[in-house]
Amino acid sequence: MRLTFLGAARQVTGSCYFLEAGGMKVLVDCGLYQERPFLDRNWGPFPVPPAEVDVLLLTHAHLDHSGLVPRLVAQGFSGTILTTDATSDLVSIALMDSARIQGEDAAFKQRRHAKEGRSGAHPEIPLYTVEDVQRAMPLVDEVPYDGEVALSDALSFRFRDAGHILGSAMVEFDCHENGGSRRLVFSGDIGQWDKPFVRDPSVFERADYVVMESTYADRDHEDPKSIPELLTEIVADTVKAGGNVVIPTFAIERAQELMFYLSRLVHDKAIPAVPVYLDSPMAREVTDAFRRHAADLDAEARSLFEAGKSPFDFPGLAIVRTIEESKAINTQRAPSIIMAGSGMCTGGRIKHHLLYNLGRPESTILFVGYQAEGTLGRQILEGEPQVRILGQTLAVRARVAKINSFSAHADRKALGRWLDAFRTPPRRLFVTHGDADVAVRFAERARQERGWAAEAPAYLDSRDLD
Ligand SMILES: [Zn+2]
Repeated sequence: MRLTFLGAARQVTGSCYFLEAGGMKVLVDCGLYQERPFLDRNWGPFPVPPAEVDVLLLTHAHLDHSGLVPRLVAQGFSGTILTTDATSDLVSIALMDSARIQGEDAAFKQRRHAKEGRSGAHPEIPLYTVEDVQRAMPLVDEVPYDGEVALSDALSFRFRDAGHILGSAMVEFDCHENGGSRRLVFSGDIGQWDKPFVRDPSVFERADYVVMESTYADRDHEDPKSIPELLTEIVADTVKAGGNVVIPTFAIERAQELMFYLSRLVHDKAIPAVPVYLDSPMAREVTDAFRRHAADLDAEARSLFEAGKSPFDFPGLAIVRTIEESKAINTQRAPSIIMAGSGMCTGGRIKHHLLYNLGRPESTILFVGYQAEGTLGRQILEGEPQVRILGQTLAVRARVAKINSFSAHADRKALGRWLDAFRTPPRRLFVTHGDADVAVRFAERARQERGWAAEAPAYLDSRDLD
């Protein structure tokens, strides 16, 4: 068995691992690079010839795990893409959205660069198009959780629920080679315990080799109060002041979780009866996918659907369709709750809602997700007095609030809990999917505190797993 780290190695994005085992060449994930210093890699040739890869396994639909699939196919991959039912559904929504955004961005850059008479660091064309996505999707085959899939006589795998987002999986490989057997576990993105929609993350008692994410290995997602308490306070205060609660919302999982909590608060009459808008075409599609895959949800959410109390259907909720409906939200003066994408305010309908609310001291901008450096969301969150938005400079007068505990990623405590489940130390732990210093320190702690063999591999590092 040989494992090569093709991405998410001492960085958070671009997840991609190349496994040669049991006579097969397997990729686990094919993620987009989203961190600025690594964007070049999205445009380069794949580090391994795509035509030689037999099968690609996708752990979940987030773009940092699946966003380069259309490019892999365009560069010659013609094998099978195996993933769970729900991920197959979500990944097609996410990739189509990604292709559309890239098309729009490329057109915008072409116009701007033509006007300025210069060219940018990357070609002014989309990384891939809607047609590229349409060519990739027929390669996808769905695999149920927990069922053993034989890739060859010597290599098999199972998907285990990762509890990160709907459809997310960990991968457990078993390889029988040279008279011995080895188990290799990929954690994928590890979720938090006790979340409303996703089940708890799977844990393992035994593995020979473990590849583990470390996104939040250096911190805990703590809030002074629970999510319902914080939401109740923020909504009550803002409505009393006569403003809107504007929530930049990621389309997958976060939008649905917000609806879950708001539906509970509305039913319990814990918050005033105000209109609640979900204004994101992608979040609307994802919400439909959640309805289709209700069987994969955690017991609590499933029982709500079974009892006819869908969290996506409560008094006051409007799931917005057209641009006209979206614009109409801002002609109303009565207080409301507005959820819109994108989650980091880098594009989408949220920009229009910010335009109407940033200057109003009575409104609240509520962040419920990570805001990367250099994004409009980060500027607002960090208290910039003025921001540029849709060609205008606006003074930020709205109240800015944040709830940390929505995160879909295991925090430091939960990652420790996941490792504690192993009854015997693996032969080696590979720490990936974390900022360089975070991943290196986490591996160091595993060595010192647990006495495990652990390392944080670098990009293109390759290891024999004997
Ligand atoms: Zn993820």
